[in-house]
Amino acid sequence: MVDRPTDQSSSTATHRPSERRAVSFGGTVVGAGSFALIAGPCAVENPDLLLRIATAVADAGAGALRGGAFKPRTSPFAFQGLGAEALDMLAAARRETGLPVVTELLDVRDAERVGATADVVQIGARSMQSAHLLREAALLGKPVLLKRNPGATIDEFLAAADYILSEGNDDVILCERGIRTFEQSTRYTLDVAAVPVLRQRTHLPVIVDPSHAAGRSDLVLPLARAAVAAGADGIMVEVHEQPEQALSDGAQSLTLAEFPQFVSSLRELAEACGLTWSLPSQQRSLAPSA
Ligand code: PEP
Ligand code: MN
Repeated sequence: MVDRPTDQSSSTATHRPSERRAVSFGGTVVGAGSFALIAGPCAVENPDLLLRIATAVADAGAGALRGGAFKPRTSPFAFQGLGAEALDMLAAARRETGLPVVTELLDVRDAERVGATADVVQIGARSMQSAHLLREAALLGKPVLLKRNPGATIDEFLAAADYILSEGNDDVILCERGIRTFEQSTRYTLDVAAVPVLRQRTHLPVIVDPSHAAGRSDLVLPLARAAVAAGADGIMVEVHEQPEQALSDGAQSLTLAEFPQFVSSLRELAEACGLTWSLPSQQRSLAPSA
């Protein structure tokens, strides 16, 4: 029997009130009491730099490495990412540090190769309502980190998550990353209320990206702490060795020097909120301290 098409929309798959989903990748767990910090550069720029950033964030206590290979830039003339080469660099950084890798899938034509490298497939804010891309991402058999479009309501965000769940992939991580408002002092406006609202409306883990919301690095820690206090299951932040030289999003990137302090402040709060700080199963073996 053929299902009759209907124009009624209801996001039901995202709502299982009796359950809180924990999503695992490389030993790191987000959700159901486990807290994950995902950190790394906006874009992968070169192998040595990526490795230095990955090593620094691993040593400071990150649970996963982020880094864009395919960059969805506002302008077509801006740096678009190194593409497939960057995927190899991410794989090398994972081998070296043990950090699972989060990277964006921007185009269905890259699905297989992104799926072969990523531990978590990111769907960026600009692609949130690309139904075909959501279905393809779901079918890669990896957890999907879905970012909220800055112009999307929570209903629309959950309907996008339904596209992934309806393909049989239950490992969806929702990410609030700022919405468009009239305010100009930040790049977007972090919708902190979305965190408890999403946690009421769905069983899925909810993380927050304060870097893209703020657009400036001095606000990243206070916004991250606000998100944790509001109930976030994880945080994703951008980190760079020399933010002023970064090929994208330098202004919002924490430096390698700032990052350990950021982690300890966040971790203290997360643990005070009863969360378990999650680390990958293959942690880099730290040199014994002298
Ligand atoms: C990113 O996280 O790399 C990114 C491009 O963010 P967003 O999709 O939220 O703009
Ligand atoms: Mn970025």
